[in-house]
Amino acid sequence: MRAMTYRGPYRVQVENKDVPAIEHPNDAIIRVTLAAICGSDLHLYHGMMPDTRVGTTFGHEFIGVVEQVGSSVQNLSPGDRVMVPFNVYCGSCYFCSRGLFSNCHNVNPNATAVGGIYGYSHTCGGYDGGQAEFVRVPFADVGPSVIPDWMGDEDALMCTDALATGYFGAQLGEIVEGDTVVVFGAGPVGLYAAKSAWFMGAGRVIVVDQLEYRLEKARSFAHAETVNFTEFDDVVVHLKRTTDGLGADVVIDAVGAEADGNFIQHVTATKLKLQGGSPVALNWAIDGVRKGGTVSVVGAYGPIFSAVKFGDALNKGLTLRMNQAPVKRQWPRLFEHIRNGHLTPSDIVTHRFPLEDVAEAYHVFSAKLDGCIKPVIVP
Ligand SMILES: [Zn+2]
Ligand SMILES: [Zn+2]
Repeated sequence: MRAMTYRGPYRVQVENKDVPAIEHPNDAIIRVTLAAICGSDLHLYHGMMPDTRVGTTFGHEFIGVVEQVGSSVQNLSPGDRVMVPFNVYCGSCYFCSRGLFSNCHNVNPNATAVGGIYGYSHTCGGYDGGQAEFVRVPFADVGPSVIPDWMGDEDALMCTDALATGYFGAQLGEIVEGDTVVVFGAGPVGLYAAKSAWFMGAGRVIVVDQLEYRLEKARSFAHAETVNFTEFDDVVVHLKRTTDGLGADVVIDAVGAEADGNFIQHVTATKLKLQGGSPVALNWAIDGVRKGGTVSVVGAYGPIFSAVKFGDALNKGLTLRMNQAPVKRQWPRLFEHIRNGHLTPSDIVTHRFPLEDVAEAYHVFSAKLDGCIKPVIVP
């Protein structure tokens, strides 16, 4: 089969690989019909994530058709059109039984630190991902769901991570009616978080980024106020001025490890790799939220420490909430919003590339060329 393959930082290509086989009775093999590149795939592409091995296939956002199932699979049959959450999880361990699917204890030798994620380095379990013609899906009775007939392919694809993660980011914010919500990052997750904040009763939603074309999408898709942080000496001071001097009630970090906006953080994190990520957006969140407010973190950070303003969070009495999204927990409510027409997730898809052009797709997305917000790969 043809598969996207990692060759080293900033180098990916399409190669021939063996079609994956059933390795366990509860495996399924999925023929991928659509995959997406995630902003977090760029952390892998840039060589930011430990133990990203040459030869592996990325892709934790994919949908497809069931090709083959193992002998114990009961919920799926060959021919089913399915969506697969980015989390690999067992469904029955201490954590899964409490709905913490992203913290499953059975799917990663590294499980005390992080759960299992398709195509996201051996730090996250070493599973090959879905930017390929076929992918092996373990615990096939647990993660995948048959896509409802009325749901379009690209809408389903967005539910496998970006939309679920954005929605989860807003949920973690514990928004109450009338709250002012600031979202750092106008990528897919930030756009969906901003949109979701309205569903939860926000009174104001403000999206902060530096890319004008993405801020335009925040206005048109998420109906948010926007702030371009490059226009201010100190974006936190600006945000406080627009929020009665107190700060926002809730701030969501939808940026994660490769935030711009602070030279020293950028060098120590992305160049020297002395941090698990450059927490510029997170520190702005801690500074920009009001005392007693909530900071929600759904941007991706690597396993080692980052220089976060923890003392300020303590002294302001903040609530810090964060996790990788337990994707399938979000689906019932997201399906309602999509079916009711409150939300069309595919509105943020800007690019569609054939699998053969995956290197071009990574380059365009990474370099933020051509107004790229969300690229989709068609095997
Ligand atoms: Zn993703
Ligand atoms: Zn589990």
